[in-house]
Amino acid sequence: MRRAGVLGRPVPGWLNVALGLGTFVGLLWFERKRPLRRWTESPRRRNLRNLAVAALSAAAIQLTERPVTQRLTAVVESRRWGVVQRLGLPPWLEVTAAVVLLDYTLYVWHVLTHKVPVLWRFHEVHHADRDLSASTALRFHFVEMVLSVPWRAAQVLCIGAGPLSLSAWQITTLVAILFHHSNAALPLALERRLCRVFMTPRLHGIHHSTVEDETNSNWSTIFSWPDYLHRTIRLDVPQQVIEIGAPTVQGDAARTLPDVITRPFISASRLPTMWTRGALPSGRDLVA
Ligand SMILES: [Zn+2]
Repeated sequence: MRRAGVLGRPVPGWLNVALGLGTFVGLLWFERKRPLRRWTESPRRRNLRNLAVAALSAAAIQLTERPVTQRLTAVVESRRWGVVQRLGLPPWLEVTAAVVLLDYTLYVWHVLTHKVPVLWRFHEVHHADRDLSASTALRFHFVEMVLSVPWRAAQVLCIGAGPLSLSAWQITTLVAILFHHSNAALPLALERRLCRVFMTPRLHGIHHSTVEDETNSNWSTIFSWPDYLHRTIRLDVPQQVIEIGAPTVQGDAARTLPDVITRPFISASRLPTMWTRGALPSGRDLVA
C-alpha cells in the first residue's frame, strides 16, 4: 500500500511548472543585474533562439522519452525492480538515494556525449552557445533527447526509480541546470562553499570553455561529488579568461535557429579539436 501510494505518484505538474518557471524568471532577472561574464550577444535574441530549440526538445521528450519512462517507472514500482527498490528504505530515503544515483549516472552520460562522435555531434549544439545563461540550460538538440532515451530507460531499470523518484530527479535536475548555466555572479565566498556540494555557475562556466582541459572537467549536474570522485573537478580558471563556446563552431555559425537545428546533420562528425591554454596559478579554492 505504501508503495502504491506515495512513491507511485509523480511530482504534480503544477509544482514542476511553478519551480521551473520561477527559477528561470528569477535567474534571468539576476543575471541581468549581476552578470558573471561579459555578454557577447543580445540576451533577448539568444534567449528567444534557445527557447525555440528547447520547444523542439520538449516535444521530442513528450513523444519519445515520456511514454517509455511512464511505463517503466510503474513496472519498476510494482515489481520492485532495481537497486533502491531492493533496499527496503523508508520512502524519503528511497527517493533521495534514487536522485543521487540518477544524478551520478547522468554524469556518466554527459561524459559519453563528449567522447562518442555521434553524441558529440548533437551535444555540440548545447556548447555552441557563445554566452552561458539560464536559457543555455534548455538549449539541447531534439535528437540528443531522442538518443538519450535508452540510457534513461536503463537508469530507471537498474536504479529502480519509481514515478516519484524519477519526477523528483527531473525537477531537481531542471532547477540545477538552470542555476549552473546561469550567468549569475554569486558572491565568491558563497560559491566556494556551495561548489563543495553542488554544481555552480563558475564551475560549469569552466566546462563550457573552448579549452580542452577545461571542457573535460566539471561534468556533474546536481551534486559536484562525481567530479571530485573522478578527479575531474577544476576550480582554478578565472571566468574572465574563459571563452565560452565550442571551438568547432566559429564566428556567427550557429547563431540562427535554422543553423542550430541543421548543423549536426551537415557538419562533419568529429570530436572537437580544442584550444589549449598555458599554465594557470594553482590553488585549492575556486577562483573568481
Ligand atoms: Zn557538456
